[in-house]
Order: sequence, then structure tokens, then C-alpha cells
Amino acid sequence: MLEIHNLHKSFSGTGVLSGMDFKVDKGEVIAIIGQSGSGKTTLLRCMSFLEKADIGEIIFDDYKGDMARISKSDIKKLRMEMGFVFQGFNLFNNMTALENVMEGLVTARKMPKDKAKEISLEVLAKVGMLDRAHFYPGELSGGQQQRVAIARAIAPEPKVILFDEPTSALDPELTGEVLETMKKLALEGTTMVVVTHEMAFAREVASRVVFMDGGVVVEQGAPDEIFGNPKEERTRQFLNRAL
Ligand code: ATP
Repeated sequence: MLEIHNLHKSFSGTGVLSGMDFKVDKGEVIAIIGQSGSGKTTLLRCMSFLEKADIGEIIFDDYKGDMARISKSDIKKLRMEMGFVFQGFNLFNNMTALENVMEGLVTARKMPKDKAKEISLEVLAKVGMLDRAHFYPGELSGGQQQRVAIARAIAPEPKVILFDEPTSALDPELTGEVLETMKKLALEGTTMVVVTHEMAFAREVASRVVFMDGGVVVEQGAPDEIFGNPKEERTRQFLNRAL
């Protein structure tokens, strides 16, 4: 469904991604793991065009294009099919939870307000936030804000949802509710790519685990293979430290 080929990205001459290949099929839940600085977030940001790739090719369903030369209108079209959940929630503080979820449906997708409201209430219910629909972000805990951000990401039914370390800004006691919400989406067949340091989540929920180091994929496979029987020394060393 979504493929990235030969992705290169450097910052001020320092290579972060050096010829990365990455593929997501419909219904997959992919956990991207790797040590700090290995390029996980940069991969996600290049895939979603928040960062411009130096070199790379993207295939997204029947679209095929050069990531370094892609036009603004193509970026807009592709991004309409992606949902994003960031580490820092990125909610509008002057809008209620409901308004935050409705916003993209009404403005980017030109949906009538009553329809947008109906869908938004449905997704807020799905993430267990219906009773807080009229609360402002400042009145919600970090975990609740992140669940609203997840509701906002799933509301337009994108083909894939990209999560960038969705629990790393949360206090440990709040990560569970967000991971549970993500697990629920995974069980419903949502296609998800999750950059995470939560190894238990990767092991339990992911259908495929991708281990990155030095800007490339070192090893990938089913969670039991990666965690139970890693083939590469670099994977073993990382897991020894992380687990
Ligand atoms: P972490 O797990 O700590 O989030 P990561 O694997 O997601 O790490 P990235 O955030 O992709 O790693 O960063 C990879 C490298 O690229 C780091 O050395 C980082 O400092 C550098 N980098 C990322 N974004 C920028 C930027 N906008 N400008 C300069 N350097 C950057």
C-alpha cells in the first residue's frame, strides 16, 4: 500500500537516513524501534512530507513519485490519506476536544458541520472520551489529550496512521490508557506505523517489528522473531539494553 525506496536525508551534511527502504501493507501494525538518533522520527517525517527527503521514491496505492521533487498539490493529496499522532499531541488549546476532532473534517475535507460532529462524537466514544467532548485541552490529562489526538487522526478514516512516539511525553501512569486505545485500533484492522520505545507494546501489538540503526533497517520480522531470536548482533545489543 505504502512503499518508500532508497530514502536519503541529511541535516547540515550529516547523514541520518542512508538509503532506507520501508513498506507497509494494508492492515499491518508496524513498530519501528531503535536507539535514540537512529532516524526513526526522521523516517516518519519524510514519509509524511513534514521533512523534505534528499533522495527517495514513494509509492502510495496507485501514486508513484520522487520524494525530493514532489509538488505541493501531490503532498496535499497524499497527506489526506494519512493520519498523524505526535509526541506532543498538537491540539488547538482554544478549541474543545470535539472542535479539535471536527476541525480537519470541516476545513480540509469540506464536510458539513452536522456530519462532522456526528463522526467526531463517534470517534471520541471509540477512544473513551465522549464524556470529555466539551473539555478544552488544558482541562484534560496528557493521556486524555493524546486520546483526543488519536480520535482526530482516525476521524477522516485515513489509509494509514503514523504515530511518532505517542507516549513518550506522558507520565508513566498515563501511557497505559493511550497504548490500550492504540491496541484497540490495531485489533480493528487499522493500518498503523508506530515509532516507539515501548517494547512491550511492540511485542504484543505489532504484526511486524522494524529495527533501525544508523539510518537503515537492520532487521525486521514478526515480534517473536525479533524479540525471541534476533539474527543481527546490533539488534541483540539494542534489545539487551532496552529490555
Ligand atoms: P529518538 O528515539 O531519540 O526520537 P530517532 O531515532 O527518532 O531518535 P531522529 O529524531 O530521526 O532519531 O533523529 C536522527 C538524527 O537526526 C539525530 O541525530 C538528530 O539530532 C538529527 N535531526 C533530526 N531532525 C533534525 C533537524 N530538523 N535538524 C538537524 N538535525 C536533526
